Amino acid sequence: MKVLQNLINGRFVEANASERLDVPNPATREILAQVPLSGGEDVDRAAAAAAAAFESWSQVPPAERARVMFRYRDVLESHKDELARLVTLENGKNLDDARGEVRRGIEVVEFACGIPTLLMGSVLPNVSREIDSEMIRFPVGVAAGITPFNFPCMVPMWLFPVAIACGNTFILKPSERTPLSANRLAELLLEVGLPEGVFNVVHGAKEVVNRILEHPAIKAVSFVGSAPVAKYVYQTAAAHGKRVQALAGAKNHHIVLADAPLQKTVDILIGSAYGNAGERCLAGSVVLIEEAIADEFIQRLTEAVDRLQIGDGMEEGKELGPVIREEHRARIVHFIETGVAEGATPIRDGRIVDASVGKGFFLGPTLFDGVKPDMTIAREEIFGPVLSMIRVRDLEDAIAVANRSELGNAAVLYTSSGHAARVFREKMQAGMLGVNIGVPAPMAYFPFSGWKGSFYGDLHATGRDGVEFYTKKKMVTTRWLHD
Ligand code: NAD
Repeated sequence: MKVLQNLINGRFVEANASERLDVPNPATREILAQVPLSGGEDVDRAAAAAAAAFESWSQVPPAERARVMFRYRDVLESHKDELARLVTLENGKNLDDARGEVRRGIEVVEFACGIPTLLMGSVLPNVSREIDSEMIRFPVGVAAGITPFNFPCMVPMWLFPVAIACGNTFILKPSERTPLSANRLAELLLEVGLPEGVFNVVHGAKEVVNRILEHPAIKAVSFVGSAPVAKYVYQTAAAHGKRVQALAGAKNHHIVLADAPLQKTVDILIGSAYGNAGERCLAGSVVLIEEAIADEFIQRLTEAVDRLQIGDGMEEGKELGPVIREEHRARIVHFIETGVAEGATPIRDGRIVDASVGKGFFLGPTLFDGVKPDMTIAREEIFGPVLSMIRVRDLEDAIAVANRSELGNAAVLYTSSGHAARVFREKMQAGMLGVNIGVPAPMAYFPFSGWKGSFYGDLHATGRDGVEFYTKKKMVTTRWLHD
């Protein structure tokens, strides 16, 4: 059985772990590897290596650091299919989604290739008589990234390419449920000549995270994961004097107006709600549908749900893969039970899956009608292939319901009215909006900008925010004395 190793100071080494977890393929339950639950000393070693490497890496000219990113981009491009297969293997999403994930990750590396321009400061001569002011940027030091299971390639790549290009060194703590992609990304970084210690990987869970949060050498922490852990990470890292960005959970509302082209809307919505088995932080979870078209729309949606191909994402044409683990499957089943108990109507019930689909952690698509805003399934993040329909009077009513959510990651409007789209843009309390776009993911050069309980911090991941997060500013005020 392959046991994963940590990457510390440019070498893969055995973790100092008392425990290991199996990493199954969620589609087959075949054990792919074991992941060590590293201890605090593994973090200490990684932090020491990263702190030592920072001394020289931060002095490498930005254009040379960019060249590493250009080479990394090329290597990733030539390994993109291999990486996508690895994502499908350990996460269960289908190959098309996995390819999309790798592509989005590569785009962050492409963004980081522009680091010489992105790092430029600013100068104002003569702020006062014969006095000049300049603002220049410096890397913050050792940064750490703690990432979730649902995008094992892309989410780490939101973080480390920008951090490293800015001149920082980095420690990645990947999800213990999908740890394989991180090691492959690390191997490819070593191939392109990144100096030892600049990028480190420590596998594990809570113990590793806690050591990262309190370690004096680690100056910045990026977290992506569920809302309760995000809040904990934000508070704990901040209490230890670190800068933190913590991207959290989601409950995304999709509003369908009567003037939306219905069949196209159905097709987009199906991809958003059931793609990646609903395990996306941008997944559509609640549909607010105008009463006037609700019956016809739900009829069409049900027909589309019935056409969904369930199965192993490695097989061509499969649209709905397994969820990540048996425990997660049980949690989703519990949400479905709660929905039924609270009075919602399951038009399609995913708890019953044909055995021919396979041995994995499969759930069929669930579609609820008659959902009320206060029901558990309308309020809490389910993170599975479950979609809830709430009937509303109009756009204003829909926005009012959606804005009651404690989370504010994404929201989507389906309409052909420019005016409605504008009202939605202005009034919707969420940070990533889509107009007729089911998964409104910002591209690498923009911030991934969740609102409310979906984000803790102020500078988001990727884009200019990413550069600001991984750098600190220095102001120099100069007067040249002369007689
Ligand atoms: P998770 O919170 O369980 O785990 C995320 C990371 O935190 C993992 O590395 C894990 O090891 C660590 N962790 C888990 N519990 C911990 C604890 N008690 N103490 C310290 N560390 C802990 O999240 P997940 O299930 O891997 O991922 C799914 C969640 O991530 C969903 O809520 C989803 O919405 C969210 N997510 C958000 C975004 C975003 O951009 N906002 C993106 C992707 C995923």
